[in-house]
Amino acid sequence: MPSTAIKSIVVVCSLLFASANWALTDATDPIDPRQACEKISNKLSSVSFNECHTLQLQPTGHQSVNGFPILQREYPPLPSKRPRGRVLLIGGTHGDELSSISVVFKWMHTLEKHHSGLFHWRVVPLLNPDGALIKQHSRNNANGVDLNRNFLTPGKEGSALAYWINRTKRNKRRYPGDKPLSEPESRWLKQEIDQFRPDVIIAVHAPFRLVDYDAPNRDNAPERIGNLYKNLMGTYPGSLGNYAGIHLGIPVITMELPHAGIMPKPKQVSRLWTDLVRWLIDNVDNTDRPNPVYTVVAGQGFPPRPQSRPPVGPTPYSIPQ
Ligand SMILES: [Zn+2]
Repeated sequence: MPSTAIKSIVVVCSLLFASANWALTDATDPIDPRQACEKISNKLSSVSFNECHTLQLQPTGHQSVNGFPILQREYPPLPSKRPRGRVLLIGGTHGDELSSISVVFKWMHTLEKHHSGLFHWRVVPLLNPDGALIKQHSRNNANGVDLNRNFLTPGKEGSALAYWINRTKRNKRRYPGDKPLSEPESRWLKQEIDQFRPDVIIAVHAPFRLVDYDAPNRDNAPERIGNLYKNLMGTYPGSLGNYAGIHLGIPVITMELPHAGIMPKPKQVSRLWTDLVRWLIDNVDNTDRPNPVYTVVAGQGFPPRPQSRPPVGPTPYSIPQ
């Protein structure tokens, strides 16, 4: 085998596991974005310190259970162009899906170069820092809660906790917390959805190699994004797809990368992005609506505006077993 091929395999296989541990030594001493980038790059060998730091991620003012800041980057409307819609992009909801964090960092660098104002983006590369940045990274947050089961379940499905007890047989990896929004990370995300009013939410996960879609009408679900093919799963009580996609009527695209600990190759990362943006262009266009689009400064507040799509009624399809 040529040495370049061997080298590329080594790079691919080793990409994510620059193991690291972190803990607040002083709970009163907040972690600033620079320190956060040090910790992220120490954990993820596929994200260098500079790659993180040059993005100038902004503190949201909210922290994880262990006090790690939830950071985001905004790609706001440009003065000359009205965006077709607002997009909220989230990585690292599950702390053991490290590729979902790294891929979002790569896409932010694409936006750095090519943000054209076509969409107004808010990007949260790491929603669950406590789960991701500990030495033995874990799916759930520091309280052992699956953040993707900790949202409100307003419909008839019953509570996420009852579902967890009766249907998952208390699977610890799916623990929804003792009540909806018990966790600071999910509380923040709900608030972000309330304020930003995204037209689409994109959540990156791994490792099931598929693209899922939760919305009142699933006819326009993406058939394929990069090497991820459409596979419409059920929604679960307490999940983001259930809460935002079904009950708020905000389409949620869930991208499940093929591997949690191995990055897609750069060509695939780029192709995923291209197909994602193509789907957005084909399916999101609110420019004919009378609502004003606010010009914002990155990192500053954003006044809420009416949601582009009204909330819907009961769940239009049943929850699978
Ligand atoms: Zn996940």
